[in-house]
Amino acid sequence: MNNYDYLVVGSGLFGATFAYEAAKRGKKIKVIEKRDHIAGNIYTKEVSGIQVHEYGAHIFHTSNEEIWNYINQFAKFNRYTNSPVANFHGEIYNMPFNMNTFNKMWGVVTPAEAHAKIEEQRKEMAGKEPTNLEEQAISLIGRDIYEKLVKGYTEKQWGQKATDLPAFIIRRLPVRLTYDNNYFNDTYQGIPIGGYTQIVEKMLKSDLIDVETGIDFFDRKDEYLQEYPKVIFTGMIDQFFDYQLGELEYRSLRFETEELNINNYQGNAVVNYTDDDTPYTRIIEHKHFEFGQGDKNKTIVTREYPQAWHRGDEPYYPVNNTLNNGLYKKYNKLAAQVPNVVFGGRLGQYRYYDMHQVIHAALTTVLREFSDK
Ligand SMILES: Cc1cc2nc3c(=O)[nH]c(=O)nc-3n(C[C@H](O)[C@H](O)[C@H](O)COP(=O)(O)OP(=O)(O)OC[C@H]3O[C@@H](n4cnc5c(N)ncnc54)[C@H](O)[C@@H]3O)c2cc1C
Repeated sequence: MNNYDYLVVGSGLFGATFAYEAAKRGKKIKVIEKRDHIAGNIYTKEVSGIQVHEYGAHIFHTSNEEIWNYINQFAKFNRYTNSPVANFHGEIYNMPFNMNTFNKMWGVVTPAEAHAKIEEQRKEMAGKEPTNLEEQAISLIGRDIYEKLVKGYTEKQWGQKATDLPAFIIRRLPVRLTYDNNYFNDTYQGIPIGGYTQIVEKMLKSDLIDVETGIDFFDRKDEYLQEYPKVIFTGMIDQFFDYQLGELEYRSLRFETEELNINNYQGNAVVNYTDDDTPYTRIIEHKHFEFGQGDKNKTIVTREYPQAWHRGDEPYYPVNNTLNNGLYKKYNKLAAQVPNVVFGGRLGQYRYYDMHQVIHAALTTVLREFSDK
């Protein structure tokens, strides 16, 4: 045993929040991270004065005031409002589906006209139980919106035809009968001025926390488990157990980033490509997250390509279908047999957490961990 109280595996938002809170309580923590940088998927890097979201667009949003105040300790947030646009073969539509979208799609002007048009479109599925994602989407929003704004994007995201995908993937499609392009319904949203990495840097800056990057837990798993009284593990739970019950399924992504010698490429931070000819799902233009920042003669854009996941790839999204959730439950039972390891975060708990949810989950773990001490 060494003189640390905790080993935290992974320096993403879960691991960093836990380490910060444990250090506040006087505990000594070692953090190991297999990437060559801290902050996990919220990592941002400054290039030409622009904060580049290296692992995809990250917009902080929450209705939980406590979490909003918590994250604001570590950075000042701007008033960025997520309002992505969809590009379907050069036709531009506002998202989420709202009066601007319906006006462009059908020329309707009033909420009553839009409502009537949607109801008319939905009739195609009247009385029929949807058996796949295509039918489900048509039953919710009708064929026009499905074909232009849902089909291509979803098929690229999942790597499967919409008619082969289960209906439950789309439980509901939010429809807004107002001219409001704000993607989120949350009370608070924004982007940290100066990027996300500073948040994790501040969380991990303590005399009680030692951080080492470029270290994979699995290179010395048995020794770590013997050397540390308690381990907070934020990597893949199935890998921790050597896939002994089978592999959980993940989706991966490939990012293609390009620096352009122009000021403004697409006029918006996020443009979704909803046709099925364009191989990527979206283009992010990073400078628009922090309006007016960065080099006026440069911009940085990233194309996002969804990928199948194979061992060794980055597991960006858990695939939370019935089969995988069932398998995760079995791994969770195994986890209960190793009481000196706490599994946390998106990969440790195999759950699609947003940032505010992962902070909440980490703070819940902190409460559980320290309430009796
Ligand atoms: C493309 C994309 C877009 C997103 N957009 C948003 C958004 O707009 N808003 C929002 O709120 N959330 C968003 N999220 C979710 C957000 O990224 C997560 O909520 C958050 O990053 C989860 O933190 P975490 O610590 O659980 O996981 P991670 O950030 O994945 O951190 C886990 C860390 O553990 C390390 N690790 C894994 N295994 C090992 C090992 N064996 N040894 C050592 N280190 C290891 C990893 O390298 C990683 O750094 C998005 C996610 C993705 C993928």
